[in-house]
Amino acid sequence: MHAMHESKKPEFRFLLNGVVIPEIRISRKCVNGEATGSLQIEVRDEVIGWMTLDDNSHLCDKDLPRFEMSYRNETEWAKLSVCERHADPDHGWRKTSDRKLLKILETAGYIETKKDSMSTDDKRGTRVCKPRVGIFWLFDEKLLVEGTPVSEAEPYANHLGHPAGHPAVWERWQKLGSVPKDVPYDEPPRGRVMFNRIDGTYVLLADKCILNQKGIVSMILRALDLPKTVTVDTDGHYRCHVCLYGDDTDEDWGE
Ligand SMILES: [Zn+2]
Repeated sequence: MHAMHESKKPEFRFLLNGVVIPEIRISRKCVNGEATGSLQIEVRDEVIGWMTLDDNSHLCDKDLPRFEMSYRNETEWAKLSVCERHADPDHGWRKTSDRKLLKILETAGYIETKKDSMSTDDKRGTRVCKPRVGIFWLFDEKLLVEGTPVSEAEPYANHLGHPAGHPAVWERWQKLGSVPKDVPYDEPPRGRVMFNRIDGTYVLLADKCILNQKGIVSMILRALDLPKTVTVDTDGHYRCHVCLYGDDTDEDWGE
């Protein structure tokens, strides 16, 4: 290996599907509830929060957006002359994958991959999938999701679901200041994902304001690590204020 003793590590910037990622982190995959699996990369998106970068091998639907990750070695890029920069049609950005990026970060001295990092769960194409049930909202153009592993989910008739309901979770978030106190839990579009104990499938029920947006649905599937067989449907419960009363909540009724 080369000069690992040099204290100055190269600076990197990252793009996910063309969007700047403010932060990435390296963690271990969970195996049977313990973080003992191989290394994985998590990326933080400003809108949907942390998600695990994967190799797109377990997409629930081939039409879902694929992860396209690029990086730029800012330290190297800064050393280039203006002419050299102009000569690079990609402006220093290089496409990468989750595995390749781990190698790059290892070479740069950010992580140490020990022998155990190539554990048995790491054979390509056998990604550890840990689906969760949960509840979610689309509020202020942000997806808010709280999930729980199926092993800790609670029975509701034939289904297993998130132990806490929408009102309780919203109230907790209001106390934490994560959502405004003057917005009731049933005002923004919301929904839930449950596990059907009879046929072993996952069911996503949501407001049509959410289901209308394919990108948002795919982000929910991503956020909860859901497998290929998800039934998506509306539910009479999950109707936001716009669905129930129309989009006139901000109308000025005069003095
Ligand atoms: Zn709605």
